[in-house]
Amino acid sequence: MPATLRALRADITTLAVDAIVNAANSSLLGGGGVDGAIHRAAGPDLLHECRLLAGCKTGDAKLTKGYRLKATYIVHTVGPVWRGGEHGEADLLASCYRRSLEVAGSKGVRSLAFPSISTGIYGYPIELAAQVAVRTVRGHLAQFPALEEVVFCCFSPTDLAVYERAIDERAS
Ligand code: ADP
Repeated sequence: MPATLRALRADITTLAVDAIVNAANSSLLGGGGVDGAIHRAAGPDLLHECRLLAGCKTGDAKLTKGYRLKATYIVHTVGPVWRGGEHGEADLLASCYRRSLEVAGSKGVRSLAFPSISTGIYGYPIELAAQVAVRTVRGHLAQFPALEEVVFCCFSPTDLAVYERAIDERAS
């Protein structure tokens, strides 16, 4: 059976899933938004491991342990900065979701939670981003049979409504 997709409103650092995804920046050395929250919750050992990774390209993903989080792993991915939509943003955002699934899949992760990558400081319009997120995850689930549940973790009720709509629209 392919994994279940669902959206929920929560602080991603509190979720008891096998892995959470971090919307990081390319230095992987911490930042604002969800990245800062994850570093604060995971503790300083996360930064030590991140320093060894030598950064991450936009659209790629790298794995660390979860340290003080309930999640065993953190998948750090770097979303594109929105520059109007004609600079490869959609492909790069899709690549974040695909590479995150691959990195999590390599550890046999059964439950995985994504934040809304790029839609905060990086300015990607949420309706468009949610469509890319849901389409890309759905399109690659068959390759990860161990995965049972994918959560789109939204920080605000309005973001949650957008992701719920994107999941429903594409359900068949
Ligand atoms: P980006 O730089 O990729 O845009 P941000 O961290 O600025 O990343 O925002 C990405 C999304 O994460 C936004 O929707 C923001 O509201 C949300 N967010 C911020 N903190 C948390 C958190 N603790 N848990 C889940 N989502 C969060």
